[in-house]
Amino acid sequence: MYSTMIGKIDKARRYAQEPERIELGSIAARFRGGHDEYTLTLDEGRWSCSCNSFAHFGCCTHIMAVQRLLAVMLPPTAQYEQMAWTADPGSSIIGKLEKARRYADEPQRFALTAIDAMFHGSNDAHRITLRDDLWGCACHAFDAREGCAHVIAVQRLLAAMLPVRARYEETAWAGALA
Ligand SMILES: [Zn+2]
Ligand SMILES: [Zn+2]
Repeated sequence: MYSTMIGKIDKARRYAQEPERIELGSIAARFRGGHDEYTLTLDEGRWSCSCNSFAHFGCCTHIMAVQRLLAVMLPPTAQYEQMAWTADPGSSIIGKLEKARRYADEPQRFALTAIDAMFHGSNDAHRITLRDDLWGCACHAFDAREGCAHVIAVQRLLAAMLPVRARYEETAWAGALA
């Protein structure tokens, strides 16, 4: 089991250099600001945020920051470059971009509370989920105690944006190597 684990971790390390292998289908995230907390979601390529700015303008600094952080892991239609406001950035957007850039330097402000993603491995695609701090992967190698290379790669890639209990260091499989 020790050598299997080493193998998984090695593979995960290689995968983590290739974020384009991950295709986030839907996510839910919590944003912690100085005084407020908001909930962001991405579902079927559509963003939503519980803040006022999103309600008024259909975009906000929280979404823009997450777009910077997740970049190629997002479906193409949900990436920053594809948004309606990129074509005609009014002055309200310019100010928001500056703020979004600062938030993107603080990934720990975000916690991805739910993830539904496809992982494109060397031969196959596998569905990865995170719900209530528990990971799942549809590959045969996945085991709730030992994880799998796909989940471990996602843990490396998203690191600080994960809820504490879903991070690599806190999962059962980190202990397997200790
Ligand atoms: Zn927002
Ligand atoms: Zn897997």
